[in-house]
Amino acid sequence: MSMAIALSPVTTIAVVGGGEFPVRRIYCVGRNYAAHAREMGADPDREPPFIFMKPADAIVPSESVVPYPSKTQSYHHEIELVVALGGGGRDIPPERALETVFGYAVGLDMTRRDLQDEAKAMRRPWDMSKGFDRSAPCAPISTVSEVGHISSGAIWLTVNGETRQKGDISDLIWSVEDTIAFLSGLVELAPGDLIYTGTPDGVGAVVTGDRLDGHVDGLTDLRITVG
Ligand code: MN
Repeated sequence: MSMAIALSPVTTIAVVGGGEFPVRRIYCVGRNYAAHAREMGADPDREPPFIFMKPADAIVPSESVVPYPSKTQSYHHEIELVVALGGGGRDIPPERALETVFGYAVGLDMTRRDLQDEAKAMRRPWDMSKGFDRSAPCAPISTVSEVGHISSGAIWLTVNGETRQKGDISDLIWSVEDTIAFLSGLVELAPGDLIYTGTPDGVGAVVTGDRLDGHVDGLTDLRITVG
């Protein structure tokens, strides 16, 4: 097939041990840790988690310098466990959901919090507060065959060596399998899809020059610097 314009490159993420994971879609879960839901002014007992998206080319590899984005004075970090799918389907039951997982990684759901607050107040979409350029830093993916499934363990983020966020994967309101099952009822999931599973409490702003180090037990750490 001949393309009328040059074909955009496929976004990929390194796989620990070799190879590249081609990214298809990025789904994100909002308010998936009760303490974070409360810090955002929501009641986790009354408002269940929900889904939003980022474009695939928002991915930034670990060890990058990420330019401070335009149109914000409140550029926030959200450290998250990322699920990388090697399978997919529709209406996947929770008990079969983990069969679709290729691996796991540490990710950051970077957010223009001021634009998000404005969008919430005006009942407008979140795309420009969540799905902007380079808004999805992601460390190399560890395969299930190497590290197994991640259902508990520490997740934390430091900024310039100081702890900002600290939680445990076992505190997810929707577990990995529940999230895959729920999401597959809304859309057909496919190999290459990523799911950012939500952030624990302690989100906050970063500025130019800050170094962010993210960690989930058992996975490869994520490090970026704000440029
Ligand atoms: Mn998030």
